[in-house]
Amino acid sequence: SDTVQITINGNSYSKGKDFYFYRGFNDTNFTANSIVFAGYGIDDEKYSDFENINVKNKVVLIIKGEPKKKNKYRLTGNDEPSRWSKNWRNVLETLKQKGAAAVFIVRMDYDLPENQIRISHYMSKPVTVLESNQNSKSQFPPYFYISPRMANDLLFSSGKTIQELQKSIDKKFKPQSFEIENVSVSVKMNRKKEIKTAENILGYIEGTDKKDEVVIITAHYDHIGKHDTVVYNGADDDGSGTVALLEIAAAFKRAKDEGYPIKRSILIMPVSGEEKGLLGSQYYSENPLFPLENTVADINIDMIGRIDEAHKKDTNYVYVIGSDMLSSELHKINEQVNNQYTKLKLDYTYNSK
Ligand SMILES: [Zn+2]
Repeated sequence: SDTVQITINGNSYSKGKDFYFYRGFNDTNFTANSIVFAGYGIDDEKYSDFENINVKNKVVLIIKGEPKKKNKYRLTGNDEPSRWSKNWRNVLETLKQKGAAAVFIVRMDYDLPENQIRISHYMSKPVTVLESNQNSKSQFPPYFYISPRMANDLLFSSGKTIQELQKSIDKKFKPQSFEIENVSVSVKMNRKKEIKTAENILGYIEGTDKKDEVVIITAHYDHIGKHDTVVYNGADDDGSGTVALLEIAAAFKRAKDEGYPIKRSILIMPVSGEEKGLLGSQYYSENPLFPLENTVADINIDMIGRIDEAHKKDTNYVYVIGSDMLSSELHKINEQVNNQYTKLKLDYTYNSK
């Protein structure tokens, strides 16, 4: 079975109760005799935890979050968090670029009962990653979320506590980074592995004038499966989108057969592994059959069958997400065509970056 052992100064900890981690990095084994405390792991023009320290090839300890005073975030000056705590990838990307060997991220709220339940549930489930991830250079260094208790064991020789350090950073808005000497930490991981296969399904309708350009239309045909003894069939999420793909494919094929061919080529692609972390889409992006430079858009459909509280009265709506993010034209085209033909209410509530 799985072995994941972390020891600090001879103490060992238990997975879930004291620490947890996400999918996305390989099993790792290391020992270290010093680690670097790097505040919140932020490297911003206004504030940097890396001013006076080097984390290259070091094990790094950081706090999840960003400096705050009262209810205001120091970096933004208001109650909106900055990109550093809004998206955890920013901190990990920074640590990766600075060459950190491994990262411990302390969650000050680790012991809240609701977190404990979520974490232990999450840790009891197997994780699924693409096989190609095993060697991927885009991987982050191994990173573990830990409890304040574990962080204080890492800090022991320094005589400081994680609570004091956080308070001091927040109060002064000055980095408190330093190297912790005389600590012994080791991590040993050996997770059981099992190879499973899954397929994306591809249906190609060739275009005319612009046949080298491809529009992809996707929906995921996997669902979460069984939860204890309850079967989740996924009729809405995303059987509804998958069926829509079949209808769309049939419509385009019929149009072509009846003398109305389309200019661009269309790739209809039900993908798998979405619920495991967009794995089917990731696989296609890494192994595209048609060059991504010529792929002008991917229209993804998920959950056509859902009607939420906000639209109980007028159910003729769709949430549009991302049409203005990568494309300069898609947003306009979508609105124009909708005004002319479908006349759905376009709701942009979830279209945030
Ligand atoms: Zn879905």
